[in-house]
Amino acid sequence: MQQEHVVIIGAGPAGLTAALYAARSNLNPLVISGNQIGGQIAITSEVENFPGFDSILGPDLTEKMQVQAMKFGARLEIDEVIEADFTKGPPFRVKTYSQEYEAQSVIITTGASAKRLGIPGEDKFIGRGVSYCATCDGFFFKNKDVLVIGGGDSALQEGIFLTKYANRVRIVHRRDSLRAGELLKTRAHADPKIQFVWDTALDKIEGNGKVQGVQARNLKTGQMEQWQTDGVFVFIGHFPNSELFKGQLAMDEQGFLITDKFMQTSAPGVFAAGEIMDPIYKQAVSSAGQGCQAAISVERYLEVQHAQALSK
Ligand code: NAP
Repeated sequence: MQQEHVVIIGAGPAGLTAALYAARSNLNPLVISGNQIGGQIAITSEVENFPGFDSILGPDLTEKMQVQAMKFGARLEIDEVIEADFTKGPPFRVKTYSQEYEAQSVIITTGASAKRLGIPGEDKFIGRGVSYCATCDGFFFKNKDVLVIGGGDSALQEGIFLTKYANRVRIVHRRDSLRAGELLKTRAHADPKIQFVWDTALDKIEGNGKVQGVQARNLKTGQMEQWQTDGVFVFIGHFPNSELFKGQLAMDEQGFLITDKFMQTSAPGVFAAGEIMDPIYKQAVSSAGQGCQAAISVERYLEVQHAQALSK
């Protein structure tokens, strides 16, 4: 079994920042990337609120974070954790598809994944018109009609991005006021390709091999309508990727890991940072900050462990 000082599970802004700090503390961290290096930011279009960058594409920001962490000695394994045992340890056992590790400490930064609508046709048409990533799939909707579902910052930001390609972007929201911030609201309202459809939910996505239309319902009047469209982009929030840790680590009713102010979970030696433990701020920069905090706490934790071992 491979021995490690610190294993970081996840490679989004929290994981890569934790890796940078742990590497600079000579902890030789191992980052296990999961299925998406960069996490959500890697599939975001333009990022305009990461300090130091006026505007940067999500994938470019990811690459910069990765290169910077690796420059100081962080190692990156492109693999997925399939089992972890935090009920005993340290050392903690972490198993991926290809390797098994014993880690003196662990930082969990597995982030969050896009929520689905859960309506008929959604699963069937993923990759055939249903998407959760405008950066990945926008290109396939040149001169087409698309719907964006949601009323938060993601729906507006990605909706605006989609106007680069699509002829018309209808943002369909279940209420009549947006959750998104003022800047994005102003931009979206000013965009001639964007239309808002209020108080409306989709009941069904339809098509023949690819999305061709939807069944929409006005939530106030109950009136149903059939709309033609080529794509449905869903941005209705995220859920924490904590399934693997159920029954082992304390979490709230939504599945967010509970940490103390040192970013430590209910298992001493196991820390968490980013959207896996943050149901409130959920920004690339707040995740990066939490990653930094977790790495500093790990360094202190390992020092104490080392001192205790010497005094025995
Ligand atoms: P969010 O803020 O949670 O918004 C989700 C939206 O989806 C809400 O408008 C919600 O409606 C709607 N919704 C939820 N469940 C739904 C359902 N089952 N059917 C239809 N609509 C549903 O999520 P987000 O937009 O992904 O943003 C997440 C976090 O990232 C936020 O803190 C946000 O500020 C941040 N973010 C920031 C930026 C930026 O600053 N540029 C960009 C992207 C994200 P209700 O409003 O009715 O609840």
